[in-house]
Amino acid sequence: MERLPFIAGNWKMNKTVEEATGLVRELKTSLSGVKDVEVAVAPPFTALYSVSQELMGSSIRLAAQNVFYEEKGAFTGEISPLMLKAIGCQYVIIGHSERRQFFGETDETVNRKMKVALTHGLNPIFCIGETLKEREEGKTFSVIRRQIEGGLQGLGENEMKGVVIAYEPVWAIGTGKTATPEQAEEVHRFIRERLEKLYSPEIARGVRIQYGGSVTPENIRGLMGQEDIDGALVGGASLKAESFSRIVRFREM
Ligand code: PEP
Repeated sequence: MERLPFIAGNWKMNKTVEEATGLVRELKTSLSGVKDVEVAVAPPFTALYSVSQELMGSSIRLAAQNVFYEEKGAFTGEISPLMLKAIGCQYVIIGHSERRQFFGETDETVNRKMKVALTHGLNPIFCIGETLKEREEGKTFSVIRRQIEGGLQGLGENEMKGVVIAYEPVWAIGTGKTATPEQAEEVHRFIRERLEKLYSPEIARGVRIQYGGSVTPENIRGLMGQEDIDGALVGGASLKAESFSRIVRFREM
């Protein structure tokens, strides 16, 4: 099955509204004519609405960086899936390692967020990945397995069709240390095998698995050359139109 490559930029806690709309305007120009790659940007919450207006008529998709697992109510500081859907978000990043590390997210809260996002027609970009310590202790595959089983708990085959998985080794995020294409592929293949066991060969073949962790215009081609790597979740290099566009245009490099 041909999986459409998917490159998403996670802007994290960067960009004012003005900077965000400026960047998206540049991206619309630098990405014009790009075919056969799906592209999304994930601005901070304050810029989502302005960016959604700027993206009208563009093929670039809008993603949020987080969502809460309730629809509304007394949850100060949280953002509901209904609010994201209403401003045109199609994707939402769930379970990013920074949220697990700094904001106490667990496999259980991640799972609740996955369910509520899918209920409201938002496609989760479900992040998993091991820390350096876990890798060094030989626990990479058991951690990935636990995160997959916990995060996807209770999701059926139909729901899985709306899910994108991002394998992001924590030791490679924002550190300049990328996993080699072979290291990444080994885990991507493992994830696909797990999906086959948990669901079916069809689901395993169809779900897109992005790699994330210090992706740059220089290393994207090697990563995309691997059979089970279907795209990238890009942090630092997505903050400039020039580097992000070169990543999206990986085939031309
Ligand atoms: C990320 O935060 O999802 C990420 C992969 O960051 P970076 O590309 O900066 O390593």
